[in-house]
Amino acid sequence: MIRKKLLVIPIIASLLVGVLAGCSSTTKKTEEGDSLPKIGTTIYKYDDNFMSFVRRAIETNANGKATVLMNDSQNDQAKQLEQVDTMISKGVKSLAINLVDPKAAQSVIDKAKKKNLPVIFFNKEPDAAVLKGYEKSWYVGTESKESGILQGKLVVDSWNKNKDKWDKNKDGKIQYVLLKGEPGHPDAEARTKYVIEEIKNAGIQVEELAMDTAMWDSAKATDKMDAWISKFNEKIEFVIANNDGMALGALASLEKAGYFKGDKFMPIVGVDAIPDMLTKIKEGKVVGTVLNDAKNQGKATFDLALNAATGKDVLSGTNWKLDGSKAVRVPYIAITKDNLSIAEEAYK
Ligand code: BGC
Ligand code: CA
Repeated sequence: MIRKKLLVIPIIASLLVGVLAGCSSTTKKTEEGDSLPKIGTTIYKYDDNFMSFVRRAIETNANGKATVLMNDSQNDQAKQLEQVDTMISKGVKSLAINLVDPKAAQSVIDKAKKKNLPVIFFNKEPDAAVLKGYEKSWYVGTESKESGILQGKLVVDSWNKNKDKWDKNKDGKIQYVLLKGEPGHPDAEARTKYVIEEIKNAGIQVEELAMDTAMWDSAKATDKMDAWISKFNEKIEFVIANNDGMALGALASLEKAGYFKGDKFMPIVGVDAIPDMLTKIKEGKVVGTVLNDAKNQGKATFDLALNAATGKDVLSGTNWKLDGSKAVRVPYIAITKDNLSIAEEAYK
């Protein structure tokens, strides 16, 4: 009897030690989770093809390094400002903000400033003066103009090679339609302006048949293109889209109308180089696009936000560079059939 008890006690004791050890190790784990710096992030809307890749890049980079509070602002600026308040009250150490309205940067800064919180804006560029006005704010994105110029070059090169077939009315001019992104968005404005300027600079005359916004959106672009095909039909010689989502929407409309069968072709160019677009370039249905490097923009956004959250210089331990307007600008690259692999790599 006594011997039995003596045996039981050490067993219980060792079980207890095991349980306690188990407990303390889980406690330690949550402590580690908690000790990661919190970064408050918004995406202007999850339902944006390109932004879904940027979001994924931020999350991948954050793995094990920071806790990212990720918010879908559902294209609603008021909602986004509430999300900023909530994140601040949850104790985030920095903010990474993809504005709904590029003009709302100051409102975000006003909130951050009160808590001395750093803000990294990304993808929708605030006015330089606004960034300048708050020491702890930066921007990660691109040089918008560059995408228009590169897209213009794609139009010029492909037109010069194919004008015998593509200049349907033989007037030497490109009769084009243009699908614009969100009006007021620096990328949409610059792409629209510089693509045409670049074509003209190359000595090619153009005639704009139609231009309208499809808000970066594929389905809206299909509707627009449906209307333009029935209005202009054979007159359209080129489709220029501010992004691939809209280019693909236009493509769907053109396919319905019998294009891309036999020798019925329509040249289309976009921007982003999202995987669906690359497939169409491979199939020979799309002339080309401009790589908007989601992976590196997501990485740069996270790198700066993490450094800012931990009180370091935003560029510390990175290869990113800031330009005169406190912006990290990831370069664009023109993409055709010949260099698709570069774009595939960037969207892996
Ligand atoms: C991309 C678009 C995207 C927009 C969102 C642009 O840089 O090219 O595809 O819809 O950003 O702000
Ligand atoms: Ca023509």
